[in-house]
Amino acid sequence: MERHQPALDRLGVIPPVKPARPAWRATWVAAVITVLTAAIALSTMVARWSTLLLLCAVAAVMAPIELIWPLHTRPRWRRDAPTDVVHFMVNGLLKNVTIAVALAVVGTRARDLVPHSFIHAVAGQALWLQGVEALVISELIGYWAHRLSHTWSWWWKLHKVHHSVGDLDWLAAARVHPLDQALQRWSFVIPLYIGGFASSTLGIALAVFTLQGFFVHANVRWRFGSLRYLVVTPEFHHWHHSRDPRARNTNYAGKFPVLDRVFGSYYMPEGGEWPTDYGVTEPVPTGWFHQVIWPFASAKR
Ligand SMILES: [Zn+2]
Ligand SMILES: [Zn+2]
Repeated sequence: MERHQPALDRLGVIPPVKPARPAWRATWVAAVITVLTAAIALSTMVARWSTLLLLCAVAAVMAPIELIWPLHTRPRWRRDAPTDVVHFMVNGLLKNVTIAVALAVVGTRARDLVPHSFIHAVAGQALWLQGVEALVISELIGYWAHRLSHTWSWWWKLHKVHHSVGDLDWLAAARVHPLDQALQRWSFVIPLYIGGFASSTLGIALAVFTLQGFFVHANVRWRFGSLRYLVVTPEFHHWHHSRDPRARNTNYAGKFPVLDRVFGSYYMPEGGEWPTDYGVTEPVPTGWFHQVIWPFASAKR
């Protein structure tokens, strides 16, 4: 092309000019990179202390409860507890980053496709009403995401890290593979964001999920009478972690057991029976690092 250029000029032919990259694309990429960098930096700074404070606060509430009303009598200190503390800290540091990345990469683009009138209608509602709607939507999506994490072998490799705790207690809630945590949270946060729910509603939904998550894993013998048929209790979620064949792939709901009744996965024996055996049937690697790479080395259940 170079050699023929003068001849073309002499003939008055203007060679085609390669169109420049649209400016909006460069701006968009720069904006996403800026948002991600800021989100990662801010989350790391803020989460480091807030995560540690949250751990101390939850421990201050849950440890005495487990001490006074234990379901299973066990040594006071679980040997693999330090591993779960590391899971807690790492997941606490990552959770805001993964949400920020998901909203920046997928959420904002998908939200542009939703009619503005719909987003304004949702966001214009009272916060309490948004909260109720967000709870119902997140619970419904969360049920199916959790169920999928048990039935889809690829996702189960990640989710089995959570099910690998043999002595269930409140800290067991922290043992979640970072990628499993991201997928479970993305499953409901992204749809709520796209639907126009206020960011404060999303924050409250995430906080409720986190705090209630600790309680339902607790080694506590409270049964809550008839209330246990309405909301998820430790008894309900302990059966979900049970190795008892009768309870296999049951009790996926995070808040309302009625979902398991509707979708045929409910298991709660009458007569005050509690599960006694928890965990998975295969050997569980020790230490945070080995548990994080475990999904990529084994597919058995
Ligand atoms: Zn599960
Ligand atoms: Zn669990």
